[in-house]
Amino acid sequence: MLPRSRTPVAPAGEPSDRVVRARLVAACRRLDSRGLIAGAEGNLSARLRGGKIAITPSGMRKADVRERDLLTISADGKLSAGQRRGARPSSEMPMHLAIYAARPDVRAVVHAHPRAATGFAVAGKTLPRGVLAELDDVLGDVPLAPFRRPGSGQLGFAVAQALGQANVALLARHGAVAVGSSVDAALNLMESLEQAARIVLAAHILHGVIDD
Ligand SMILES: [Zn+2]
Repeated sequence: MLPRSRTPVAPAGEPSDRVVRARLVAACRRLDSRGLIAGAEGNLSARLRGGKIAITPSGMRKADVRERDLLTISADGKLSAGQRRGARPSSEMPMHLAIYAARPDVRAVVHAHPRAATGFAVAGKTLPRGVLAELDDVLGDVPLAPFRRPGSGQLGFAVAQALGQANVALLARHGAVAVGSSVDAALNLMESLEQAARIVLAAHILHGVIDD
């Protein structure tokens, strides 16, 4: 069963639904162009005014997603009327809904499979604190959620629980998720997570090879 959401009213100054949808489409393209996803991987969503959620469709390359392809769902996952025939929301919808239910402050969720960050997740490791200022200051805690089958409600609960009040998390044997007060905030965190993972990985490889 999907969690009930404490649906927040959009704070004053929140962008219009049209702007939110345009930013989601732009974020889809950027995830693809920066190689943070491949094929039809990844999924994004954002709260709309009035409590509904716009989410990417299942099975589409994110670079091809247009505003009309985004689906509108309620906080408990019901498709709004008037959607494109045959369109289905991302298979990871339960994870998005679980995060929104647990975090009224979150207005956007970005899920991707960035190579270096996912490498840490596959190895069952999270990113270390105290080795990279950017990592500590911008990303904060990066919890590692235990493996649950992709697309399952169990994954949603595990990720929401692991996130707590953090804004980024690794998903064991799977990928990463970033959340934020806007689409761009969540996207920036996803990019910073991957950047930090690559730097930590490079430093780890160099250790013992390069003389001080
Ligand atoms: Zn995934």
